[in-house]
Formats: sequence, structure tokens, C-alpha cells
Amino acid sequence: MDIRRRPRKSSHAARCSAASGVHSDTKASDALPLPLYLTNAVFFTLFFSVAYFLLHRWRDKIRNSTPLHVLTLSELAAVFSLIASFIYLLGFFGIDFVQSFISRNELEAGEVRGRFVLREEDPDRTDARCSDFAMGRPAINPSCSGEDEDIVKSVVSGEIPSYSLESKLGDCFKAAQIRREALQRLTSRSLEGLPLEGFDYDSILGQCCEMPVGYVQIPVGIAGPLFLNGCEYSVPMATTEGCLVASTNRGCKAIYASGGATCVILRDGMTRAPVVRFPSAKRAAELKFFLEDPLNFDSLSVVFNKSSRFARLLRIQCAIAGKNLYIRFSCSTGDAMGMNMVSKGVQNVLDFLQNDFPDMDVIGISGNFCSDKKPAAVNWIEGRGKSVVCESIIKGDVVTKVLKTTVPALVELNMLKNLTGSAIAGALGGFNAHAANIVSAIFIATGQDPAQNIESSHCITMMEAVNNGDDLHVSVTMPSIEVGTVGGGTQLASQSACLNLLGVKGASNESPGANSRLLASIVSGAVLAGELSLMSAIAAGQLVKSHMKYNRSSKDITKIGS
Ligand code: ADP
Repeated sequence: MDIRRRPRKSSHAARCSAASGVHSDTKASDALPLPLYLTNAVFFTLFFSVAYFLLHRWRDKIRNSTPLHVLTLSELAAVFSLIASFIYLLGFFGIDFVQSFISRNELEAGEVRGRFVLREEDPDRTDARCSDFAMGRPAINPSCSGEDEDIVKSVVSGEIPSYSLESKLGDCFKAAQIRREALQRLTSRSLEGLPLEGFDYDSILGQCCEMPVGYVQIPVGIAGPLFLNGCEYSVPMATTEGCLVASTNRGCKAIYASGGATCVILRDGMTRAPVVRFPSAKRAAELKFFLEDPLNFDSLSVVFNKSSRFARLLRIQCAIAGKNLYIRFSCSTGDAMGMNMVSKGVQNVLDFLQNDFPDMDVIGISGNFCSDKKPAAVNWIEGRGKSVVCESIIKGDVVTKVLKTTVPALVELNMLKNLTGSAIAGALGGFNAHAANIVSAIFIATGQDPAQNIESSHCITMMEAVNNGDDLHVSVTMPSIEVGTVGGGTQLASQSACLNLLGVKGASNESPGANSRLLASIVSGAVLAGELSLMSAIAAGQLVKSHMKYNRSSKDITKIGS
């Protein structure tokens, strides 16, 4: 009976309640020392047995003409037990009855006011709840009550700007929680599935993300060991593309079995190129000559380097378009990726130049000749960030046994696909099979700026038969890998853990920039592994088969709701 009256709380609902901090439906009977069914059984038995006893005594008294109000001690105890058990049974069933009315009224009131109501849910029916949202019905309440509820309402009404919650509340988690609740109400869309808890919102304040409402989870896989310059690295890759980690891992295996890969950093300099305008092209040219004169470099670098103890001006390149001058400053930035650092240095120089060139009009601190987060030949040719070349000689038997193909097949495919095919496509830095896959996955895992995968993935993959055609020389040349191990997203807990795994977390103690350069080397080594494996899969005709295995689960996607 109690099972019918006290519905079992599903474990899913219990978890949700615990996670959201909403208390479960507590009842007075929960405080009983015995299980509910035993307590009920005791009081039922007591009630009916004493009722039977008293009726029996009543009949005897009538027969013996004894006054009914004259009670013996046992009869008194029986009357007392009858009343007590009656009160218990009335309370038990009565409270349940009243509670069912109260909750029904609350539910209706909540719906009328458009409030979010927590419903006890069937774990198999979460889709049904999502469709409630799609239909604009009220949804789930995280744990807003009292004061929080008032703040949510103020955000919904526009009285409190959503962006000001952190500073107003002084509590980043609560700010995210309230913003999220307000967003759900404003959009009538559920954010269920986007986690809120388990993240340090203080760590992103003023640095990584504004107006947070949760965080996206991306699985991190490990490829390796990557044997590079005599050291082994386990490479973290954050991706949702099936096959990618497995494929890179196979490439690492082939490199390892062949004695490893070698990587050389060719250049290290972050760039920023402001655009300035003059009244005439002649004046623009005068500044160009001034900036490119080696005699002026020292004084300019003193001004530039004031931006940070790690910033060192390396060179200045200029390009003119009529009266407009584009000045590409390149500087080393220690272990930082360096965009902030180089921008500050550029601002120092522009302020300095204004004295000698008062007719110079600074149109923008970035004039796209930098060039950041856009495909551009200048990065491909001149480099940006770390310019790297990485190579390995893969033994013939490793090509056969691990990569399941042959040296001539790989060389031919590379020529026709990565070189000729990309040339026909008019590629800009895209002379490779899938460098962007590996670059993006490592960037996300290690807290790099994922948008910089555009130029960081510029790569030309070369393959050549060596040692009388027995072995394969493979290389990747990547002129603009933009990475850092301090600043930006690198200090966040998860990303920092991935950097730590590679031994490049934070600033290098030995020499500034050593950690970020090593990270760039690891990126190129992993790209080498990825290129080897994907090219082999294509050469062996395995690509579709392996993607069907790792990239397409057997789940019936028609059953996944939109
Ligand atoms: P970015 O320039 O990549 O946007 P930030 O400006 O956010 O990076 O972070 C760089 C900050 O880290 C600077 O304030 C710099 O002084 C500090 N820093 C500490 N150690 C190093 C290091 N080894 N290399 C570069 N910057 C460092």
C-alpha cells in the first residue's frame, strides 16, 4: 500500500535533485523509526484488535446490565490505544490526501505564473520534457528561490543587465546560475545537458569568457607515445571526431618503430600590423623607409620592448597601398602566444612615431597584414608564431606492417593529392591531408585559441622514397604554429592538466619561450603522425571502412530527437 501511496523516486530524479540542490519531497512519516509498512501494520492491528476487544466488553456489559461508563484499567488502555491508532491512521492517509491537493494547486499556480516547476521525472522520458520546452511550456527550475528568484526576474525584465551579474553578486557561480535561469525563461528553451556545476567560473572572469551559462564537455583522447627529438610524449587531443585519435596513435606507432621524428624550430615571432594613413603616398613611403632602415631598429626596439620583459622586437616589414601603410611588427613573446604583448609593443611604437610623423593617422592597431585568424599568404610565406619543420624516416617494413601500405603508393598519393590536388584547388597553405584535425584537437586540449588553427594548420607534407626506395622520408613544414603555455585559456584547470602531461605547463624555468616552442614541436610531430596514418589509410583504401567503424556508431539516429 505504501508503495502505491509513496511513489518511488527514480535514481535519475534523485540525482537531479541532489545536483540542483532541490530538496526531495520530505514527508512527516519519513521520520518514523520503523519502515513504513511495518508501522502501518502495527497500527492497523492495534486499531482493529482494540476495537474488537471494546465491542466484546460492550456486549458483556449490556448483558450484565453494567453501566457503560464504568471502565476497568484494561478497558481504559484499550480506549486510549484505539484513539491513538485512529489518529495515526487518519494522519497518515489524511496528510497524503491533503498533500496531493496542495501539490496540484502549486503546479497549477506555477504554470499560471509561468514559473519553472521541478517535476519528478521518468528517466526514459527526458525527451518528452524537452518537447515541453519546444512547445513553450514552463521548464525545470535549478534552485532559484527567494532572493535569487527576484534577481532572475530582474534579469528577465531587463532591470539588471545580464553582463553585470558577476560584479553585482560578487559570486561568479551564482551569476552563471542566475543568467542561465533567466536565459531559459527568456527563450523557453532548456539548457539541460549543458553542465553548470563542476567548473570554476572565477578562473575565466575577465580573461576567457564573458556571460557564462555553463560549459561544453569535449572528450580528451591520448595519442602516443610520440617519439620526438629523443623524448616521448603522450599527446592529449580534444575531439568528437571518431577515428582521429586512433589514427594519430597509429602514426605515432609507425614513427616510434622507425626510431622517432626530428623537429627544428626555424623562426619564432608573433606579428601585429597596424594600418596608418598619410595625406600623401610620398609621406607613407617616407615612414616605410624610416622603419626599414637598420639604423633605426635599435631605438624602435627599445620603445617596443617596454611592453613586457618577454617581448623582443625581431623585425618590421612594410607594405603600401596608396597613402596607407601597413607595418608588420614581429616579436618574440616568451612562452605566451603573444597577441596581447605584441599589440602593447605596437601601441608604444605608434605613440613614439607620432612625434616625428604628426600627420600620421592611426586607422587601426590591426590592419589585417598581421594576419590573425584568416587564411593569408603572408603567414604562409613569412611565418607567424613558430615556424617548424618535422621529419622522420619510416622503415619499409613498418610501412607494410603498421601502415598496411607501401612506400611507392604513399609517395604517389602524396604527389597527386597533397601537392598536385591542392595546387589545382588553389590551396593556401593547405598542402596536406588533415593537419587542421590534429592542430585543432591539441589546441582545444591545451587551452590555445582554436580560431588560430586557420594559420596554425598551414602545412606542406612531403613524402619521398629513400634508402634505394626501401624507406619513406616524410616531413611536415608548418610556418605559423601559434601557441603559448601562459596566458589565455592555458591557465584553466583542464587545459593546464593537458599541458602538464606534455611537460610544458606555464613559463619555462630554463629559458623563456622553451615551453611554447616545445609545444609547437609536439604539434608538428603529432601532425606528422596524423598525416602518415591518414595517407596510408587512403592509399590502402581503408578510409571509408575505418570511419564506418570508429566514426559511425550503430545507434539508430532516427531515434535521437532533434
Ligand atoms: P598573450 O600575449 O598570449 O595574449 P597574455 O598577455 O595573456 O598572453 O599573457 C602573457 C603574460 O604572462 C604577460 O603578462 C607576461 O608578463 C606573463 N609571463 C610570465 N612568464 C612568461 C613567459 N615565460 N613568457 C611570456 N610571458 C610570461
